[in-house]
Amino acid sequence: MAKNKHGGKKPEQVDDSFGSVLQVGPGFRLADLDPAATPGFSGKKKDAEKAMDAARDEIDDLQERLYAGGRDGDGPAILLVVQGMDTSGKGGVMRHVVGTVDPQGVRLHAFKAPSVEERRHPFLWRIRRELPPPGYIGVFDRSHYEDVLVVRVHDLVPPATWRRRYDQINSFERSANDRGIHLIKVMLHISSGEQKARLQERLDRPDKYWKFNPGDIDERERWDDYQQAYQAVFDKTSTEQNPWYAVPADHKWYARLAVQQLLLEELRGLDLHWPGPDFDVAEQQRRLAAT
Ligand code: AMP
Ligand code: MG
Repeated sequence: MAKNKHGGKKPEQVDDSFGSVLQVGPGFRLADLDPAATPGFSGKKKDAEKAMDAARDEIDDLQERLYAGGRDGDGPAILLVVQGMDTSGKGGVMRHVVGTVDPQGVRLHAFKAPSVEERRHPFLWRIRRELPPPGYIGVFDRSHYEDVLVVRVHDLVPPATWRRRYDQINSFERSANDRGIHLIKVMLHISSGEQKARLQERLDRPDKYWKFNPGDIDERERWDDYQQAYQAVFDKTSTEQNPWYAVPADHKWYARLAVQQLLLEELRGLDLHWPGPDFDVAEQQRRLAAT
């Protein structure tokens, strides 16, 4: 194990920071990203699982510092936004990455098609209400990006309306930053062939029927439109301040490791310290000793 600049351990197979290899920069083409690639990692499934185990203590420690720092109603929060086609592994990321973090410090929300009540409000209304308070790790399983993905693909609002949303999203995210919220925006990128195999599995296995939704096949028929809509999301909303990370996800083990490491790198970057006492330590020591 090599020590990195934050003093954390970096497993040997981790070649580079995941953030730097997965970040969506200018000129990025989703169509050119191989969904079966494992950027920044030269190990195999077993190595990835070991690397994830090795990172857990550090994540626990940093998460506790984050939480402690938010106790006074101030301080940073993290928001992990997870997007991807059906079967891309969003649920697995929730279980295997988010599920290992102390649940007291996590605010997880899965966004479904908006309710009647939600549809009466601007699209960011329901999103704003789920932003994490200081000290928390917020996690969005789908997000405001559905309002320029499924909504765009199916013409659920007039084009002029969804076209305005990219700018609205950018300024919404900047205002979240101003409140101390650090976004990690992740897109799990699978191939069409892998999706077919995963849907097939849901139809072949009684323990997976519950995950199957006949509507997933209708969405699959719009594959190319979705890929285009994701490309537009990257072109318009992968900013320097709030970049996207495109994570190849045909290998579930790689995608989970990558998201975990992106979270870890973000936590490290916050430079979290334990909050000082808001009481006189010596005085409380004396009082305790006297009991
Ligand atoms: P799942 O994540 O598989 O439980 O499915 C949730 C469904 O809600 C998906 O089909 C999404 O496309 C849909 N959904 C989420 N947000 C929106 C939105 N803003 N407008 C329309 N559909 C949405
Ligand atoms: Mg689904």
